[in-house]
Amino acid sequence: MTRTVAKIHLKGGREKSLLRKHPWIFSGAIERVENAPASGDTVEVVDAGGKFVARAAFSPASQIRARVWTFDSAEPVDVDFFRRRLVRALDSRGALGLLGGSTACRLVFAESDGLPGLIADRYADYVVCQFLAAGVERWREEIADLLMDLVGPRGVYERSEASARKKEGLTSQRGLLRGAEPPAEVEVEAGGGRWLVDVVNGQKTGAYLDQQRNRLRVAELAAGGELLDAFSYTGGFAIAALLGGANSATLVESSAEALRVAEREAEANGVAERCRFVAASVFDELRAQREAGRRYDLVVLDPPKFVHSADQINSGSRGYKDVNMLGLQLVRQGGVLATFSCSGHVDAALFQKIVAGAALDARRDAQIIERLSQPADHPVAIEFPEAEYLKGLILRVH
Ligand code: SAH
Repeated sequence: MTRTVAKIHLKGGREKSLLRKHPWIFSGAIERVENAPASGDTVEVVDAGGKFVARAAFSPASQIRARVWTFDSAEPVDVDFFRRRLVRALDSRGALGLLGGSTACRLVFAESDGLPGLIADRYADYVVCQFLAAGVERWREEIADLLMDLVGPRGVYERSEASARKKEGLTSQRGLLRGAEPPAEVEVEAGGGRWLVDVVNGQKTGAYLDQQRNRLRVAELAAGGELLDAFSYTGGFAIAALLGGANSATLVESSAEALRVAEREAEANGVAERCRFVAASVFDELRAQREAGRRYDLVVLDPPKFVHSADQINSGSRGYKDVNMLGLQLVRQGGVLATFSCSGHVDAALFQKIVAGAALDARRDAQIIERLSQPADHPVAIEFPEAEYLKGLILRVH
């Protein structure tokens, strides 16, 4: 029996980005869809002349109407396909030495690992996944089996709750997929510290793995000084800095839940007596501290994503400017500001401009002494610049 193949026929010339291996097909590039694929179905993408361009996952609710699985007409999309892609992703982390013992790392970073919409993070013996597009949602059971098989964790847990799922017409899902329920806090080791990750109730998949390496760099600069960790979550920057020899750290975070984990984590690392925990909005707290004349040797600003879409660039930029102005004003003469943005829509050049504006308003001179970005387990596929989202500036502030 021959199965009818669902097809996407592109408009004339709209195959160009695909020929450069960009994996997204926007609704506006499509002339017509043949054989009524359902959400997540594999479709063949053909150019205006009917020539094969790619095999992709169909997503009827999304503006990104399809995401490419493969540009190779000879490569079927089946369990073996997912096995090959996962093995490649795991091998690349293994080659970087990121899979040891009870460490944590991002195993799969979606489009950049050839698996659009799939996030898989490993925390010691547990893997936590997010299925953020219709295509990976369709293959979730197979992917869960493969992760069990290839990674060998105690359990695979799902945290598919990001707003990205709404755009794909998918609802939020959270729960155990395979193996054993994770404990309330999974203990992870990294950079000489012990970290407690609540994979069930924590933010994202439980932790911000994208800052693991940057925390160690900031820790080096914080030795011997007083640190302010603004938007601390569970205190990754503060605790790494204290372990690296900082004298004291003040953590400011609006989530009381996150701060409770931070307290236990500080205890576990023997640095609790050098921490101050402030459950408050960074904007209010930093303003109050500025008025009170409080100053620090090193200030870390790691806010949540302020810009979620292109139409929020202006309002989000104001948010970044406000918080950077406050941060700069709290740095002692000759101290350091480590400031981050995880908004993909704010590129490195714009971020630098925003921080320059903040320095003007704060009446402080600042020099960039280092630029930081996302780590090797959050790679950027060379044809997919959208994967690049995290940037940081380390500034000497006079
Ligand atoms: N620096 C952290 C990650 C920060 S994520 C780490 O290294 O792990 C951003 C954090 O900011 C989240 O924990 C969120 O709860 C918190 N947050 C968001 N808005 C805030 C606000 N206005 N004031 C204080 N914290 C805020």
